[in-house]
Parts: sequence; C-alpha cells; structure tokens
Amino acid sequence: MKKIIVAGAGHAGLVAAALLAENGFDVTVIEKNPRSAMGHDWEDRFDFSLLSEITGKDISGFPEDCWRYRGDCAFISPSKRKKIEIFYDENSRQKVMWRKPLLDMLIDNAEEKGAKILFETQIFSPVCDESRVKGVITAQGEITGDIVIDSAGVFSPVKMNLPDSFGIDKEIKRGDLFYAWRAYFNKVSDETPKTQFEVYLYHECEQGLSWCCTNKNTVDILIGRIDEFGSEKIDEQLAIFRKDHPWTGDKIINGGQFGIIPVRRPLTLMVANGYAAAGDSAFMTTPMNGMGIDLSLNAGRILAETLVKNAKNDYTADVLWKYNRRFHIEYGAAVSKNEGLKNALLSIPSEGVDFLFENDVIQSADLSGAGKNMDFKTLMGKFARGMKKPEYFFAIVNGLIKGGEASSLYAKPPVNFEKAAIEKWSRAIGSKRIEIL
Ligand SMILES: Cc1cc2nc3c(=O)[nH]c(=O)nc-3n(C[C@H](O)[C@H](O)[C@H](O)COP(=O)(O)OP(=O)(O)OC[C@H]3O[C@@H](n4cnc5c(N)ncnc54)[C@H](O)[C@@H]3O)c2cc1C
Repeated sequence: MKKIIVAGAGHAGLVAAALLAENGFDVTVIEKNPRSAMGHDWEDRFDFSLLSEITGKDISGFPEDCWRYRGDCAFISPSKRKKIEIFYDENSRQKVMWRKPLLDMLIDNAEEKGAKILFETQIFSPVCDESRVKGVITAQGEITGDIVIDSAGVFSPVKMNLPDSFGIDKEIKRGDLFYAWRAYFNKVSDETPKTQFEVYLYHECEQGLSWCCTNKNTVDILIGRIDEFGSEKIDEQLAIFRKDHPWTGDKIINGGQFGIIPVRRPLTLMVANGYAAAGDSAFMTTPMNGMGIDLSLNAGRILAETLVKNAKNDYTADVLWKYNRRFHIEYGAAVSKNEGLKNALLSIPSEGVDFLFENDVIQSADLSGAGKNMDFKTLMGKFARGMKKPEYFFAIVNGLIKGGEASSLYAKPPVNFEKAAIEKWSRAIGSKRIEIL
C-alpha cells in the first residue's frame, strides 16, 4: 500500500487526503496546530459547489449559520473621490463562509474516509537525497513515505528546504505577498451604508487594499498592504475608518489577527520525485483578489486523481508532472492572467489609479469579472479617455498584455517532464512578470 504524507492540514492536502484514503492509500496528515486552532476566525468567499461535491453534503447539510450572502460592493479610488458600485442580483450574490466550520468539514471528511491526522506536530524540513523527497523531519522524529504532498502554506518548510537542484522556485519578490490584518468590531448604531462591502484600492494612497464591510451586528475591517506593518499602522488606519464609519465600536468580536496571502502567478514547476506542492505552498491564488480556497480544493482533487490513476508507479516527477500540467491548463492559465494587471496597478502612483478610475478607464465590469468589458466600442472609449495620461494608460495596457502572454504560456506546458524544456518554459513565464519597485 502506498504511504502518503500530507505536510500541513491545508485545504488542498485535506481534499487529497480524503480522496486517497477512500481509495485505499495509507494517508497521514501532519499539522502543527492543535485541532481547536484550525481555521481563521473570519468569513471568506468561495464557490461552495466543490466543497459540496467533496464532502457529499449539499448546502442545506452545512453546519448551522456557517455561511451567508455578503451585500453589494463598492470599489473606492485612492483619493476617495470616485466610487464604483456593484449591485448583485439573485444569481450573482457573493457567498461567504466562516473558516472554522469549513476546516472542520474538510478535517471530518478526511478522517471519516480513513486519513490519520497528527495535530500539534511541527514539520521542520523534508527528508531527501539528491534525487527525491522521502519524508519529513518533525518535532516527534522522522516520518517517511512514498510521496510528500506539501500543503503547509506559503512559507512551507518542506518547499523552502528542498535542494535547489530540484528546480522549484523558492523566491518571494516584493508584491508577491499581501499582508492583512482583519477584525470584526461591534456596532454602536444601526447605520449601514448603501453598499455594505466597501473596498478601498491603494488605501490611504499606500500600495495595497483595505475593506470595511458593515454587517448586521458587526463591522469587518481588513487592512492590507504589500509590505509588512505593525500595530501603529493598524491604530492609525482604524482611527481613519472610524471617522468615515462612526457606527464601528472598539470591541473585537472575531479575528484581530494577521494573515498573509500569496498574490502571484502559481509556481510553474511544483513537483519533484516524491514531492508535490498544492495550495498556497504553490502560490495557487488569483493574484488580483487573493482567492485561493477553490483553487486549493481543485488542486487536491486533481493531485489525488493523478496518484490513484498511477498507483502502480513510483511517484516520480514524470508521473507527478501530469498533475502539475493539468492544474496549469485547467486553472493556472486563467488565474495567472491577472498578475500583470495587479502588478501594473501597484507600479503606478496612487494618482495614476485615481486617473484611471475617474476617467472610466477602469469600470465596474472590469472589477466584477475579467474579460466582460472587452468589446471593441468599450475598448475604444477606454482608449480615448486613457490617452489623456498615456503613461498610466500604457502601464495598464502593458500589464494586460504581459498577463495575457503569461496565461498563454501556462496553457501550454511541456507535455513530458523534461527538465530543459520546463526550465525554458518557466523562464519565458518569468520574463512576463512586471516588477514592483
Ligand atoms: C485575510 C485573508 C483573507 C482571505 N480571503 C480569501 C477569500 O475570501 N477567498 C479565498 O478563496 N481565499 C482567501 N484567502 C486565501 C486562502 O486563505 C488560501 O489561499 C487558502 O486557504 C489555501 O491555503 P492553504 O490551505 O494552502 O494554506 P494554509 O491555509 O496556510 O494552510 C497550511 C496549513 O499548514 C500548517 N502548517 C504550516 N507550517 C507547518 C509546519 N511547519 N508543520 C506542520 N504544519 C504546518 C498550517 O498550520 C495550516 O494548517 C484569504 C487569506 C487571508 C489570510
């Protein structure tokens, strides 16, 4: 029986663990946190259908009060002079779910299907020889297996300590991560803005994004930047938020913690002999909005399907490349597209973002769904308005072009695991990145 080690009880790892255990594999998930500390203390948005499919529970079988519809949304320009409002209809309303019940569902499902989960067991590094990964070193000793599925998040100690000769990119550049602090405060009056969920781009003219979501009984505030920040910045920003949202109390009801989100294109190469990364460890988020839950769930599913189908083989990079390749064709190509636009926006000064908003070069359809606002007439209108400040307009066009080129490359990965071809392909994708200074 093949022995599978899942490093970290991340979303992708828990899905893979359940599907593999169900198919008769010996699966052990190794997680540093205790069971009670699993899952952030806040709600997040994703599409619930894959969760339903994986756990076999339709939405009516989810834990009580674990999800709700979030209200309408407004994007606010850096100067706060322009607001782009998005009103959702019945079919497009955004669903959000508390993270703890989501993790509970995934953990329960993995355990019910027969996976073992070792909580409170910290992983320090992989066990490898020059050619393959053979296990992990934990605080409780060495644990070996036929493959390590790396689901230990963005700073995974397994990925970070792989030999460089494996060719997996470990570099994190400025703008690849989004640092967020988030808390739900009590409400001191019944006021609610017309658009409940307000998203501030280049908030207070700093590179990043923040939001203030006024709920029925709480106010959910997220302060986000591409550089790390501390308590002074939080206090300063909360004071500004309270001025514009005087119904925000000062008692923290949920959250009050930092989180880090990868916001770059996914790793081109994410496998080696005996190793596959999935989820944040492979940067599987949508760069523009940091959404990674569905991508992680899907990665876990594709990886498990690949392992089941090739169960008679050793888990060499040749076999695991099938997972790597399929992920990029099905998801990587689509999500990598908007790294270009995101990095382009972060590379121009805040007055440039204001110009693009105030002149309708960026419109609500651009923010509510990529590619929906691209007919010829609309593009010509954007061109005419954007050319009033060509330096900002062309920066954005360059971002869109680079994103499109990267996306086309992701859609056509080399067919087989051939190192030279993969390196060439990865370099070509890397050359499409817009650097953020
Ligand atoms: C503030 C915030 C808001 C977000 N909003 C959304 C949203 O609305 N929608 C969305 O789709 N995504 C959102 N995301 C992103 C999303 O959380 C991730 O992309 C997604 O959870 C996938 O991450 P993961 O499971 O791979 O990694 P993680 O969630 O980081 O899980 C990794 C696991 O590995 C464990 N681990 C780490 N190191 C070790 C170690 N050394 N030893 C053992 N175990 C270890 C960790 O404890 C953890 O349990 C948000 C993230 C943040 C921080």
